[in-house]
Amino acid sequence: MDFRDTPEEAEFRAGLRAFLARELPADWSARRPHVGHHPFEQRRAWSRALFDAGYAGLTWPKEYGGGGKPYSHQAIYLEEIGRSGAPEHVGVIGLGMAGPTIMVHGTAKQKQKHLAGILSGDTIFCQGFSEPGSGSDLASVSTRAELDGDSYVVNGQKVWSSWAHVADYCILLTRSDPAERSHRGLTYFVLDMHTPGVEVRPLRQITGDPEFN
Ligand SMILES: Cc1cc2nc3c(=O)[nH]c(=O)nc-3n(C[C@H](O)[C@H](O)[C@H](O)COP(=O)(O)OP(=O)(O)OC[C@H]3O[C@@H](n4cnc5c(N)ncnc54)[C@H](O)[C@@H]3O)c2cc1C
Repeated sequence: MDFRDTPEEAEFRAGLRAFLARELPADWSARRPHVGHHPFEQRRAWSRALFDAGYAGLTWPKEYGGGGKPYSHQAIYLEEIGRSGAPEHVGVIGLGMAGPTIMVHGTAKQKQKHLAGILSGDTIFCQGFSEPGSGSDLASVSTRAELDGDSYVVNGQKVWSSWAHVADYCILLTRSDPAERSHRGLTYFVLDMHTPGVEVRPLRQITGDPEFN
């Protein structure tokens, strides 16, 4: 396989390099602070700049506001972001997990409500999968979702939830049918993080970063 850029990829890379050189502070590569140390609103503003320039959701279909580009462009994007030390888009979970799931399984209303905000950085998603007793063996999740009338009541605890302290929504994995085993009987919700009863507690890392909850 030839890993060299095609003329079109080279043009994309050059445009991105020019964007990063223009938009990042001149002494950025010398500073290169740990990404977690950038204040959140600064990172959101950076995400907005990426979005405005067409670099958010490069591989998302155009009909959902993405770039409709091949994965080679995403690889180039990641190479150049890494090379420059630029912060990543704040919507890592939205762009990589929540958005694509909503595109495939979501209703028209959910697509309308969430996808544009994920791209622009206005809507932040977190991922509520891991639990104190459930990691690699994700099918063992014990957070319970019980149907009560026409809504679900959810009880349980999640852990290692990156960005939960700033998230608007959570992709939440629950056990809705305890009679079913393993990968059956699970329900995946889009949870509004401002729902009464949702409590977010920080897990501060040794670096001081408050990324996990
Ligand atoms: C940077 C980062 C961000 C994260 N963000 C999130 C997040 O936003 N939301 C979220 O839900 N989770 C998040 N996680 C948690 C992550 O998904 C879990 O760490 C992962 O599911 C592993 O679970 P665990 O840590 O409990 O390890 P365990 O599942 O307990 O595994 C511990 C060790 O045992 C090994 N092991 C496990 N099962 C087997 C087996 N059957 N056979 C052989 N070896 C096995 C594993 O490989 C590992 O080495 C994040 C983790 C990291 C590192």
